[in-house]
Amino acid sequence: MNAKPILAVGSIALDTIETSQGQRDEILGGSATFFAVAASLFAPVRLVGVVGTDYPEEGWRLFRERGIDVSDVQQVAGSTFRWGGRYSRDLSGRETLFTHLGVFEDFRPSISEQNRRTEIIYLGNIQPSLQLAVCEHIPAARRVISDTMNLWIDINREELEVVLKKTHIFLINDEEAAQLTGNDDLEAAARWLLEAGPSTVIIKRGHRGASLATDSAYKHIPVYPHTRLVDPTGAGDSFAGGFIGHIANHDESHLEEAVIRGAATASFTVEGFGLEGLLQAAAEGIEHRMEIIRRLMD
Ligand code: AMP
Repeated sequence: MNAKPILAVGSIALDTIETSQGQRDEILGGSATFFAVAASLFAPVRLVGVVGTDYPEEGWRLFRERGIDVSDVQQVAGSTFRWGGRYSRDLSGRETLFTHLGVFEDFRPSISEQNRRTEIIYLGNIQPSLQLAVCEHIPAARRVISDTMNLWIDINREELEVVLKKTHIFLINDEEAAQLTGNDDLEAAARWLLEAGPSTVIIKRGHRGASLATDSAYKHIPVYPHTRLVDPTGAGDSFAGGFIGHIANHDESHLEEAVIRGAATASFTVEGFGLEGLLQAAAEGIEHRMEIIRRLMD
């Protein structure tokens, strides 16, 4: 693989999920987990995070099998981050039932000398203060790509705005974009975000696709149309994995292709609970779905 490595921080979690298709307790999840598994299909991934002593062997095995570098994942006394969520019947809305930060409460990222030289970094959904701490450790970062969620917009807006200033590419979903910018009109929200720091903004719109905004363009990219939706958890981070995996191979000359790869990757994630769907994805299957998305755009 000639791809550049990607360093990623985010939650490594045990998720409890309820959808109209069923329910699962304490399965592997977390923004960093979905991201790492997705991006590892395309590029080497270096993970930064923390788990508790209760973190299952199954999680370590998964990272090992995917060749994900976990040398900067700390295991400390305490409980692994846990999140519970319930989806609306049509799976378009979700309610957080609980967020137990556990070991993330006192987490101080530490990054090895070698990993500090990584050029592409992904600041996945986690407290903005931790996203900033990772940024400070990596002066060599040439591309900072970040994501966030409603909780941090509610309680850590100021730090989030500092994250935005350091971000080159910002990923956010439509509801959160409206919440952060105070503007329901997505194009206007994208303009607001472009003025806040990033040079590229991607607004993820669930089954309605994604919008790619730069200073000179605003473009809509549809989703893969034939998915059987089971559990949308992790779709955003899997999208980021495919998207940044593309950039790690091709730089930013083809941002639209990167978004298409993100959309195709996420389309696998939503087909099973937790990681089940994404684990069925291989590079060829993703290429095939990319081609179908491209045809829809023509
Ligand atoms: P997504 O569906 O892409 O938004 O990501 C879902 C993942 O985010 C789940 O696996 C959760 O464990 C994780 N998650 C949920 N809430 C938080 C939070 N407040 N901070 C970090 N990760 C979270």
